[in-house]
Amino acid sequence: MFRTQAIRRPGSALEHDLVFGLAAMALAAVVFFIDTFTEIEGAIAVLYVIATLLAAQAVSQAGLIVCAYVFVMLALISYGYTHFTDYDLQSTMRLLVALAALLVTTMLLLKTERARLSLLSLNAALKESEFRYRSIFDQTRVALWERDYSSLRSYLMELKAGGKGDVRKLARTNPGFVDECLSRITVVAANEAARELLGPQAASVGELRKSILSGHEKFLDLLQVIVDGGRVYEDKVEARADTGEEKLVLLSINFPKAAEAFDRVVVSMVDVTQRELALKSLAEAQAELARASKATAIGAMSASLAHELNQPLGAVLVNASTLLRWLDRDPPDIAAARRSTERIIRDAHRASEIIQNTRGLLSQTAGKLETVRIDDLIDETLALMEHELQRSVTSIVVEMASSVALPVVRIELQQVLINLITNAIQAMAESDADRRVITLTTDARDRDHLRIVVRDSGPGIDAKILKTLFTPFKTTKATGLGMGLSICRSTIEARGGRLNGYNDDRGGAVFEIHLPMTAELVDA
Ligand code: ADP
Repeated sequence: MFRTQAIRRPGSALEHDLVFGLAAMALAAVVFFIDTFTEIEGAIAVLYVIATLLAAQAVSQAGLIVCAYVFVMLALISYGYTHFTDYDLQSTMRLLVALAALLVTTMLLLKTERARLSLLSLNAALKESEFRYRSIFDQTRVALWERDYSSLRSYLMELKAGGKGDVRKLARTNPGFVDECLSRITVVAANEAARELLGPQAASVGELRKSILSGHEKFLDLLQVIVDGGRVYEDKVEARADTGEEKLVLLSINFPKAAEAFDRVVVSMVDVTQRELALKSLAEAQAELARASKATAIGAMSASLAHELNQPLGAVLVNASTLLRWLDRDPPDIAAARRSTERIIRDAHRASEIIQNTRGLLSQTAGKLETVRIDDLIDETLALMEHELQRSVTSIVVEMASSVALPVVRIELQQVLINLITNAIQAMAESDADRRVITLTTDARDRDHLRIVVRDSGPGIDAKILKTLFTPFKTTKATGLGMGLSICRSTIEARGGRLNGYNDDRGGAVFEIHLPMTAELVDA
């Protein structure tokens, strides 16, 4: 806590001024009397110097000048009164000496007073800045400790000078090393936030509570920073609260440059326990969703596979019947039978390619970058969505720019498109069937990026969610998870692209994917 020490208490200051003021006046009166009305010859007027010294204790600088002026006048009056008729050199010399002494004393006193005042204001400014620092220290919401690391530093530096600068080795060979180091750290002060974070004991002044450390590893890193003369230590560490609860905190320490300043090192801690837990559950949810969307994709693919295979298998059937008819002729028409057989082989190949493609999408190699023609990828995606589009009576208009090939991870981009199209279908579920239209356009107007735009004619994005559209778990759907867009954005961003969503002035939602055309793409 900040404390100020009074220089002078006001009551006693008044008494002090009164005493010295009266003493100065009395002395001046006595000097004036003796100098004027007695026969004592001597430099009596010099005693005004003492009266000036006394007055200086009681009056301000201006007051002192007035006093000195009055004393000079008194000395002149006395001189005039006693030597009006009989002028002599000696008395005049005495008067001049007295006046000079008075002048010099007054000047010196004024100078001293000025120095004293500037010292006082300097001191006040220092106290003010100390007060400000203390207020910030006490009131900030970040847990702060002021700790004395000077003894620890000297100890470590001595060890280093003796060739023992490897902290980990020291800890291995000397079991008491960590405790010894801990006992050399003292807490000078801690703020309220520190008490709230770890409890009053952990924040109490004095030797650092040893149980605050829940593991030694990170502490050894910190010690190594000191040994190596490093200036900053920052890491996530586990700290134990008074209650025994482990908290994950971001610990930052800025070590000073000068060794003398190690007695006041500021240590800050920010509780990141909740944030880490949230991040962990987010990562788990993302993994879960990725699995779920893969399952959805597989479902969609199976449906599309059945749909796509229908055509070549139907053709094989037709051609096989024709082949039989050619063979049943008398004599069999071998040339026609050969043509039918060739068609059967061609259709069987097509069926095999379709299966091959689907397997490629599901295989492990799906995470690899490959140069893909975007129009083909969009065609494939729409084929996968065909069933869903039909079921929801949604039409899709595709406007593609001249063909562009980009290095992408096919299944990733397809999943993003499937997600955006599924969202658009769901958004338009309540619209009239003839108004359910999705427009999918691609353009490469900006030569660095390919833009894929998915636009729908639904009600648009809810204003409540517009600003946090890509934040995980933000959903307006009763059964929604609110993870789709967040995953889509991170997927696109991981490939150096961007994904934005906004409402069209004419109604409906618009989602824009920007993919870099030339940028170096990372194969994740
Ligand atoms: P979910 O679909 O599980 O809600 P998303 O992250 O995919 O998760 O979407 C988040 C929210 O964004 C949705 O709940 C919805 O409110 C809004 N949204 C997404 N796409 C559209 C769209 N095309 N039109 C209107 N709102 C949309």
